[in-house]
Amino acid sequence: MKTFFTPGPAQLFPTYTQHLQTALDEQIGSISHRSKQFRSIYQQTAENLRALLNIPKENMIFFTGSATEVWERMIQNCVAEESFHLVNGSFSKKFYDFSIELHKKAVKQEADFGKGFDLEAIVIPSAAELVCLTHNETSAGVMTDVNTMHQLRKQHADKLFVVDMVSSAPYPDLDYTLIDAAFFSVQKAFGMPAGLGVWIANPKCLTKAENLLAKGYVTGTYHSLPVLWKNALNFETPATPNVLAIYMLGKICEDFLHIGIEKIRQETDEKAEMIYDFIEKSETASIFVENKKHRSPTVIVANVTNAGDVLKKLAEQNLIVGSGYGSYKDSQLRIANFPATDAQTTENLLKILQTLLL
Ligand SMILES: *Cc1c(COP(=O)(O)O)cnc(C)c1O
Repeated sequence: MKTFFTPGPAQLFPTYTQHLQTALDEQIGSISHRSKQFRSIYQQTAENLRALLNIPKENMIFFTGSATEVWERMIQNCVAEESFHLVNGSFSKKFYDFSIELHKKAVKQEADFGKGFDLEAIVIPSAAELVCLTHNETSAGVMTDVNTMHQLRKQHADKLFVVDMVSSAPYPDLDYTLIDAAFFSVQKAFGMPAGLGVWIANPKCLTKAENLLAKGYVTGTYHSLPVLWKNALNFETPATPNVLAIYMLGKICEDFLHIGIEKIRQETDEKAEMIYDFIEKSETASIFVENKKHRSPTVIVANVTNAGDVLKKLAEQNLIVGSGYGSYKDSQLRIANFPATDAQTTENLLKILQTLLL
């Protein structure tokens, strides 16, 4: 059996198989999405997510096809003219590109690859309606501190704030009384196969979308925020959703709740420290993200010589580690540090990596 330390799709959470068997036994794959049974699955998964991430009652939780879809929906539903983006890698860049493609004025503040953002240096134009932040830039292994995002929001009470937390959730402890919308997909830290996006939004986002609709803007037909919202009030979805994934997400959340979110965050920190320590002590590898404050706990990037060779030798031992992004393919490793890989599994990876990085 292989172990995946890839930043998504990633190692499945250990309980996934057993929950999948239960789902098959209960024939979840065949039930109607207009049935009481589905509505109670939606409700349960939403309640578990609410408890896990501390989401207030007034915020709604929607299911989409992917996180990529939510980039588009956020722009369509919450921007008339202008969006603002912090861009420091390929994922945050795509969010920005989507806004341009949707004919908005997108303004970006960019940091070099491997660099992050500090509060004092962020300048948001006054005309921006939506501020788009990426908690964890997966391509570079750079994290934007949660407190920075909260402080920023406090300084700009007139704007809507959205956080892409795709490759870190449930790690970031977002204050949803400040952050208006956030989203993730399930194939990263939730340890599930791809095919489901989760979008959390507050009533301010809905009001904005309704205003845009009234002015004749296209907000996204079946998955516009008002349509999703209306359906979600009855624990329904506009289209036939990924019922199985919604069920499975509820179960994984239940497991996370049993472990405890604090413990998950603490274990993530401990494993991250172990990996960063290891890279720091290695003679041939080095930590890519220089500023400690910007280092991601969930996607850890190491500079190595001959990455391709290292990845190949790891794979021979059934350890699958992510390659560097884009032009960094041959010079970096990206190690995912998600809840599905525990401390012992991580230690084992480092032990073998040790023999390859001599
Ligand atoms: C993976 C990823 C996405 C895209 O997720 P999809 O499920 O492929 O749509 C978006 N943002 C970040 C930060 C990611 O890591």
